[in-house]
Amino acid sequence: MKPIKLLAPLALLLLLSTTQPARADLRVVTTVPDLAALAKEVGGNTVSVTALSLSTQDPHYVDAKPSLALKLNKADMLIAIGMDLEIGWLPTLQVGARNSKVQVGGDGFVDCSAFARKLGVPTVKVDRSSGDVHPQGNPHYLYDPRQAKKCAQGIATRMAQLDSKNADLYKKNYASFASRLDAAEAKWSKALSRYRGTKVFTYHQSCDYLADWLGLVVDGQLEPKPGVPPSPGHIVKLISKGKTDKVKYILQESYFTSKTATVLSKQLSAKVLSFAGGTSFESKQSYLERMQALVTQLAETLSK
Ligand SMILES: [Zn+2]
Repeated sequence: MKPIKLLAPLALLLLLSTTQPARADLRVVTTVPDLAALAKEVGGNTVSVTALSLSTQDPHYVDAKPSLALKLNKADMLIAIGMDLEIGWLPTLQVGARNSKVQVGGDGFVDCSAFARKLGVPTVKVDRSSGDVHPQGNPHYLYDPRQAKKCAQGIATRMAQLDSKNADLYKKNYASFASRLDAAEAKWSKALSRYRGTKVFTYHQSCDYLADWLGLVVDGQLEPKPGVPPSPGHIVKLISKGKTDKVKYILQESYFTSKTATVLSKQLSAKVLSFAGGTSFESKQSYLERMQALVTQLAETLSK
């Protein structure tokens, strides 16, 4: 028998296995793309992962479209940031999903803020009528890779509970991710260590975890309160503070308008760094790649 004939059934089998994707053992939906990237690291090929928002969208304000509720209808897991980040849109989608697994308290609902070390938690009750969108503290903890690692571990634990036959795989995937993240984190913090103590302004109160991790000092925000647009009176005060404190950098997510930062940068002779607000999961970017890109941009801006 010629070798070609022996190989034919195998080739057919391979063809079939690549053209017919295996059904995912867990259908995972996340609110933001950073969480989708973490879920994919842990779940690997045995899970399907969909994010409800894009890295180009402000996660506080996502349109609760019926098409998003539909994505939740068949989900086994819903992973959220919590701390009221998604309060304006996720509850509507959860009602529309008609799926008990993804409701708060459901087997598949994971609030990752339970795993993170929280910053900015108010000691007194914050009145939401003032427009502050961080009434439960600062929800932007995925700017700190150490918090992302804890979230990935929490996700792995829940995946193992929901899909016990793949429990070992989820644990193994998490361990691999954790070791790659640890190595990268050490490299990144070393590369940026010379900028510890550097004062920055940020548009939104979203960089506190980044600053906490890297030793930067957030000296003020362009928004007078998280979620409240810059006002002329606030900017006048910020210019004065920036001159006194010698603030030379303004950091902001690219989904915010650059108008105010441009005005401020001229007054303070400051550099503006506009960066992606999250992992470009839709383009298959990983969390490590997203953080690498951010660190590279930061190093380049702060060196000027
Ligand atoms: Zn925020």
